[in-house]
Amino acid sequence: MKDLCHSDALISLDQALANISSAISPLRGDEMTKLPIALGRVLSTRCIAPVDLPAFPNSSMDGYAFNSADIQQAGFSLTLAGISWAGRPYEAKLERGQCVRIFTGAVVPSGADSVMMQELVEAHDSTIHFPADTKGLQNVRAIAEDVKQGECLLSAPKQLTAIDLGLLAAAGIYEVQVKRKIRIAFFSTGDELRPVGSKLSAGQIYDSNRYSLAALLNNPCHEVNDLGVIADDKTAIRQSLLQASQSHDVIITSGGASVGDADYIKEILDEIGQVDFWKLAIKPGKPLAFGRIQDCYFFGLPGNPISVIATYQQIVTPALRHLTALSSQAIRFKAVCKSALYKTPGRQEFQRGILHQTDSGEYQVISAGKQGSNILSASSRANCYIILAREQANVDSGEQVLVEPFNLFL
Ligand code: AMP
Ligand code: MG
Repeated sequence: MKDLCHSDALISLDQALANISSAISPLRGDEMTKLPIALGRVLSTRCIAPVDLPAFPNSSMDGYAFNSADIQQAGFSLTLAGISWAGRPYEAKLERGQCVRIFTGAVVPSGADSVMMQELVEAHDSTIHFPADTKGLQNVRAIAEDVKQGECLLSAPKQLTAIDLGLLAAAGIYEVQVKRKIRIAFFSTGDELRPVGSKLSAGQIYDSNRYSLAALLNNPCHEVNDLGVIADDKTAIRQSLLQASQSHDVIITSGGASVGDADYIKEILDEIGQVDFWKLAIKPGKPLAFGRIQDCYFFGLPGNPISVIATYQQIVTPALRHLTALSSQAIRFKAVCKSALYKTPGRQEFQRGILHQTDSGEYQVISAGKQGSNILSASSRANCYIILAREQANVDSGEQVLVEPFNLFL
């Protein structure tokens, strides 16, 4: 891994992503999970439909089931023979000249092939009058029109959505085989950091990164272990990294990745693992460490709060998805920038913006405000990144820019 990047030159985000994706491979190991807790898990084996969906012909509306052979262009009357309720079918065969009251989801009785909407007929006791131009073969959901027995119901790998859970349940599948969770440990480093709730002395700050990281890591595919704050102390950091690497697939740290006096992480990692330190050509988020400690992948994120979030989203998210065999393609599109943006060429920037769609459908974005990597407040008002290419200079108001909506909830 040492030779992935060996110079002091800045490396592009794409290069870093390519390096990471060639260095990691999907984790081995599956487990069974039950439907109620399967949302967001990654299906590891495809599911075959055990049944037809629907399993029987049924009505798509409340009305009257009849045989299209009884249709007369000028209108016609049929004799009401009974009722087919959802869950309580009309058992007999429908004879010619008969119809059956039917409700949505109820079995269309044998002998019937059509359902007429109830608002369109006139009922007089047991005589039901169907109007002129009644159409046959309508409003019946055919057997297997959704899924055929033996067909692939869901292919793998796939992150299960609410719709997938409905599909599995409809087919009567209660347990599915999914990729095991990624075991992730994370901690913050820095002598100045104190946990929220404690009293601060001069020069100390609250450890905010751990809350952002915990929230970003909150994902059904992760099993997360918060190791707290570790001081800028060689022995403590070495001990934490070694211990965490024994029982986790991934360790993520924030802070201490740059080459300051107290930045011990590099030194320690040289001893206990194979980790590269990259200067990324992105802003926010220049320093980043990536590599392995034994069988555990290591991501050393920068310390500044917005750098942590941006590097997590742009680098760690795709890497973690890769570990569960999922690809990732962030949705990016063009919007008209209604603010002038300051930008010096040299690094790709992920400026925070506020995106909206005008009444005419055009996407417009404005800057969310101060862009320092320590400024949480402006980013908290943002709902997207404005992505400016490495060599781009200042942006004038009215120019088109690329935007990527945030997804901070999963
Ligand atoms: P470092 O990368 O350790 O030099 O930290 C860069 C900046 O981020 C410094 O201003 C740190 O105080 C700040 N910082 C580092 N870790 C955290 C954290 N967990 N929460 C909030 N700020 C942090
Ligand atoms: Mg530090």
